[in-house]
Amino acid sequence: MLELHNVNAGYGPSLVLHDVTVQVNKGEIVCLLGANAAGKTTTMKTIFGLVKPRSGSVTLEGERIDTVGTDGVIKRRLALVPEARRVFTRMSVRENLEMGAYMIDDRAAITQEMERVYTLFPRLKERDKQVAGTLSGGEQQMLAMGRALMAQPRLICMDEPSMGLSPILVQTVFDTIQRIREQGVTVFLVEQNAFMALNIADRGYVLQQGHIVLSDTAKNLLTNDLVRRAYLGG
Ligand code: ATP
Repeated sequence: MLELHNVNAGYGPSLVLHDVTVQVNKGEIVCLLGANAAGKTTTMKTIFGLVKPRSGSVTLEGERIDTVGTDGVIKRRLALVPEARRVFTRMSVRENLEMGAYMIDDRAAITQEMERVYTLFPRLKERDKQVAGTLSGGEQQMLAMGRALMAQPRLICMDEPSMGLSPILVQTVFDTIQRIREQGVTVFLVEQNAFMALNIADRGYVLQQGHIVLSDTAKNLLTNDLVRRAYLGG
């Protein structure tokens, strides 16, 4: 469904991604693991047209999307849950969700989508009118996910959704990702929490200093020596 093929990308003179090739198939949960500064966020930015590849390509169902701009990517129903959540702090929960649906004209479809999000996150429904900046970290993460779902995405990319959350909320976030997949949405997940990510993913990639050094099923990665040493604490 989504493919990065031999992508080289970076900022100014510095190259961050080196020949990165990643495939995400329809219906999968695929995770990209990597330490700080490995280039995980840069990979996400490249998919969404925020960083332009110097060479290589990004394709969605065979169509080049690295030339269509961020709007073009969103129009093709890819959604991003950005790092550190980035909800609109001065807007209410409902307004944040409405922003997620800005590409959808059909009012009835928006209402239906909002009901779906509120069923998935009853806590957000209770806080419908609350200003997003006053939500807890976990609630803001739910809101960021809900906002992405409002765009009726075919594929959702999440940049470290478990960051900064307590263990019980981390569990909730990963449970939710599985439920999102059950609703037919493909998931590409960037994580430092390798154990949790590999437990819900079908396949995974390991990014080190901008290079993909491993690619395998999640099951094999969980027992892989390099992954165990570098990401699973031995
Ligand atoms: P983390 O887990 O810490 O968020 P990451 O794997 O997501 O890390 P990136 O944010 O992709 O890593 O950063 C990769 C490298 O690119 C880092 O060395 C970073 O300093 C650099 N970088 C990121 N954004 C920019 C920018 N706008 N300008 C210059 N360098 C940047």
